[in-house]
Amino acid sequence: MTKYVYDFIEGDRSRADLLGGKGANLAEMTRLGLPVPPGFTVTTEACRAYLADQRPPVGLFDEVNAHLREVEARLDRRLGDPHDPLLLAVRSGGRYSMPGMMETILDIGLNDATVAGLAAQSGDPRFAWDSYRRLIQMFGRTVYGVPAEEFERELTAVRAAAGPAGPDAAQLRALVETYKKVFAAQVGHDFPQAPHEQLYLAIRAVFESWNAERAVLYRRQEHIPGDLGTAVTVMAMVFGNLGPDSGTGVAFTRDPATGQPGVYGDYLADAQGEDVVAGVRNTVALPELERIDPTSYRRLTEIMATLERHYRDLCDVEFTVERGRLWMLQTRVGKRTPAAAFVIAAQLVDEGLITLDEALHRVTGAQLAQLMFPAFDLAAAPAPLVTGVGASPGAAVGTVVFDSVAAAAATGPVILVRPETNPDDLPGMIAAQGVLTSRGGKTSHAAVVARGMGRTCVCGADALRIDAERGEFTVGDRVVRAGDRISIDGTTGRVYPGRVPTRPSPVARYLAGEVTPEGDRLVTAVDRLLSHADAVRRLGVRANADTPEDARRARGLGAAGIGLCRTEHMFLGPRRELVERLILAEDPAERDAALDALLPLQRADFVGILAAMDGLPVTIRLLDPPLHEFLPPLHELTARVARAEALGEDPGHDATLLAAVRRMHETNPMLGLRGVRLGLVVPGLFAMQVRAVAEATAQRARDGGDPRPEIMVPLVGDVRELAAVRAEAQAVLAGVPGIPPIPVGTMIETPRAALTAGEIAAEAHFFSFGTNDLTQTTWAFSRDDVEGSFFGTYLERGVFGVSPFETVDAKGVGRLVRLAVAEGRVTRPELTVGVCGEHGGDPDSIGFFADAGLDYVSCSPYRVPIARLAAGQATTGGGAVPDSR
Ligand code: ADP
Ligand code: MG
Ligand code: MG
Repeated sequence: MTKYVYDFIEGDRSRADLLGGKGANLAEMTRLGLPVPPGFTVTTEACRAYLADQRPPVGLFDEVNAHLREVEARLDRRLGDPHDPLLLAVRSGGRYSMPGMMETILDIGLNDATVAGLAAQSGDPRFAWDSYRRLIQMFGRTVYGVPAEEFERELTAVRAAAGPAGPDAAQLRALVETYKKVFAAQVGHDFPQAPHEQLYLAIRAVFESWNAERAVLYRRQEHIPGDLGTAVTVMAMVFGNLGPDSGTGVAFTRDPATGQPGVYGDYLADAQGEDVVAGVRNTVALPELERIDPTSYRRLTEIMATLERHYRDLCDVEFTVERGRLWMLQTRVGKRTPAAAFVIAAQLVDEGLITLDEALHRVTGAQLAQLMFPAFDLAAAPAPLVTGVGASPGAAVGTVVFDSVAAAAATGPVILVRPETNPDDLPGMIAAQGVLTSRGGKTSHAAVVARGMGRTCVCGADALRIDAERGEFTVGDRVVRAGDRISIDGTTGRVYPGRVPTRPSPVARYLAGEVTPEGDRLVTAVDRLLSHADAVRRLGVRANADTPEDARRARGLGAAGIGLCRTEHMFLGPRRELVERLILAEDPAERDAALDALLPLQRADFVGILAAMDGLPVTIRLLDPPLHEFLPPLHELTARVARAEALGEDPGHDATLLAAVRRMHETNPMLGLRGVRLGLVVPGLFAMQVRAVAEATAQRARDGGDPRPEIMVPLVGDVRELAAVRAEAQAVLAGVPGIPPIPVGTMIETPRAALTAGEIAAEAHFFSFGTNDLTQTTWAFSRDDVEGSFFGTYLERGVFGVSPFETVDAKGVGRLVRLAVAEGRVTRPELTVGVCGEHGGDPDSIGFFADAGLDYVSCSPYRVPIARLAAGQATTGGGAVPDSR
């Protein structure tokens, strides 16, 4: 029979798939001998079975009971014992952390009888009744969906009546009676008194919370598969709300915002854990605990050091102090900002905890991309309105909105301003550029979720008075209304009125070679990891660049050449007229005249690019798009001609153009007369381009340069197409003296080219995969048509995990790539193979291309550093640390 329940002493961190991150890490801490309350975890497998059948798998609760008896024996306390009751926490937690997205129910086991036992044992009836009312509220909301306001309203009334000292035991006892009435009215039956029934219902509710709307949304956002299910951890309660010598907190082993070493966190005395995570009460910084309870503080810092050494990474923990005794309730490899990710990885190398190879896998290309974003130009910033806690870095500018609905509906960039956030604000957080809250610290919901999503966040700006009803917030006597623009700095925590201009980030400046890394901890870390990636990677990185300026930029960012230089933009602007002449030519003389006029212009383009990339390869693609793209659009010409005719004027040239456009009209231009097909049917076109390359090369060589052009033929499907173009090209090249050998190769961007790559390689010095077209032609859809129509549905329904235009479809398109590489190299072992589609800049795709044995990837200039990093990661194996995703 399947085993569905594991005691903490049975599991360990390697079983996160089965036990969820929380359950696996609680087991790991138990193994390490750390103070964890006893408990057990119901597996994700049980959850999957439950969700599939809509009922618990057979035997599940018997197994739960058996494990519960062990916990009872260990603590010498029983669930439901009216004299000394065991109370339980029932907690959710899947493979990947989804902060606050699913449910947790505390204080299971309280009822009308056990509440007295708890009061007697703790000597604190007020605490006992408060715990009971918490249970009814959490249970009502989580298991039966009773709106939180139904309880909050009563609680607020009792609190108001009680005055500053808060409600006493009698008042809380009366509140419990009221809560029970609210519960019965909302649910239709009484609050369940049987502790075991409470437990089973809670476990089912946690299972179901896997499919809560916000959890589904979060998973989609974070690319977490929807079918994993959650584990359920059941453990003995410990109490942080037993008076001033108790409390609860969250801590990080390093600063998750900057990576700065040192224990870091928030603590809340006389409180239960959910008060901290919800950010509803303002916490104190962790060092305060040293003053309040030095023994627990010391023990906590020791434990955190142990955890960091053990996990060899930044960890975060949840802990509770019960009357001076420290308990660990959770740990995991913690989420961190992009800057902290780089800084911590470099620090851990220095501390001897990890190798440089491992450090490469502690960061991601997406994080590096974020570090390249601009920051606020402080010289141009006005005095800040208010300063909060910089919880998730970035420079966000937007108009103020006060709720999630407005954020999601806004057309321009917005800043979501809330007292604090909760999981229901997720759609708004996704839609906003940044989040600003008046309450909660770096570990509040807003902070944790924003960091995970890479949204800018400033939290705990407690000078803000938010009046969402009136649609405004005030700071002192300044009023900011919904729709006003503000700028928030997630690094410094400053909030500015209006739009503050931005300047390039230090990392971007370093990557562009404008500054050296010394003196900046973050830039030094980036330099260290990127240099290591460069040292180990086997995959070359080139750039896609069409102008000398782009070429220079790419070179500055570390590109080892150009993998794709498109020539189509060279046919636009004032040159369009020459292309028109070429298209409209009625005889060879007219055509040659047009080509002769284009030649010197093309030559000058190539001279500039070859100079910018002197000494490095420049792959020049012959003209690819259909020629009619260079003529005015059909509807425009039709209208112009019709207007002229209506006015009785002669449409003249427009009529000629219109006739040409009609003649050349294609229903599916993507699959029409383009690429190599143009070269074969428009005499002289490719020859002119090849001549321009050759003459530019000769000129650069005469000027003492080291030009290394390569000529690339697009959209080949059959070797004979390539052979014809190549023969023509070689005839031209042979006629230009003083040039080095210029390789002629082809794009592989149709399935037929991939399938016949062995033959094609006989005519090609190199291959370059055009994975955009290869994806379109393999799947039989055109990107322009499908991204706006059914892609959303396909992503939602899980047909795609990610768009095949974002990350290469390794199974389908990738199979063609592997086949073409293998068969091409059989024919020509020295064949150079690269990729120049947009996938060349996507870290996941780069991992695939490295594995497929490509020589280089080519991507847009700004993605070159990201590709260098990803290529280094590909060589050193493995992916980024999944726990911290
Ligand atoms: P999340 O995954 O949303 O952080 P948790 O399962 O960690 O949810 O629970 C929320 C809060 O409940 C935690 O902050 C923790 O402090 C508190 N909590 C969890 N288990 C216990 C326990 N055994 N005793 C006391 N408090 C607990
Ligand atoms: Mg937690
Ligand atoms: Mg193409």
